[in-house]
Amino acid sequence: MYQEVNAYCKEKGVVLVAVSKTKSVEEILEKYDQGQRIFGENRVQELLEKKEALPKDIEWHMIGKLQRNKVKYIVPFIDLIHSVDSNRLLNEIQKETAKIAGKTSVLLQLKIARESTKSGMNKQEILSIISEYIAGNYPNIVIKGLMGMASFVEDTKLIKAEFIELQTLYDEIKTIDGLNHSFDIKSMGMSQDYQLAVDTGSNMVRIGSLLFGKR
Ligand SMILES: *Cc1c(COP(=O)(O)O)cnc(C)c1O
Repeated sequence: MYQEVNAYCKEKGVVLVAVSKTKSVEEILEKYDQGQRIFGENRVQELLEKKEALPKDIEWHMIGKLQRNKVKYIVPFIDLIHSVDSNRLLNEIQKETAKIAGKTSVLLQLKIARESTKSGMNKQEILSIISEYIAGNYPNIVIKGLMGMASFVEDTKLIKAEFIELQTLYDEIKTIDGLNHSFDIKSMGMSQDYQLAVDTGSNMVRIGSLLFGKR
């Protein structure tokens, strides 16, 4: 399945994040040997262990709920944090990244799913972070775009409407003066809905079970 999904993403100009949570180092290496270099994890401890054991040219993405007290362990190496779901978390990332005089790339997670269990910010919270960012309040952070997780339902109309919500906010943010050009990622779409997500504007998909098998 990897080759098909990878070919699809290449053709569409979409970045494929292989979601390797719960999968072994050997299973990750198998995909690495097929050419995959971007892997997504959702737990800090698991991510740190795998990073140690795997080739250094892997690009690691944090895609899961991130606790503030764990931020310091990942900012030295993480390539992208998809799951910024509060300004308190962003403040912590800023603080820890400043300590090492680095830069951390992040996406702001928009809550698009109707399910209360899914995290993310609303539009107003995101717009307020963007205006603080433009004002220079996050000097060690690069906000690269938005991330969203659609409802886990069969109803493709609902899923599509949720993806459109993210695309619409993205378009609105792009019109704001003073935003740098690096704001260009829309991370949406998983095994069940990635094609729908890409058709609706996604340019980064996070795919796990379709590539690695069921968890
Ligand atoms: C697990 C996970 C995925 C991948 O889900 P699959 O259905 O296995 O493709 C994508 N995004 C996030 C945030 C996840 O936690």
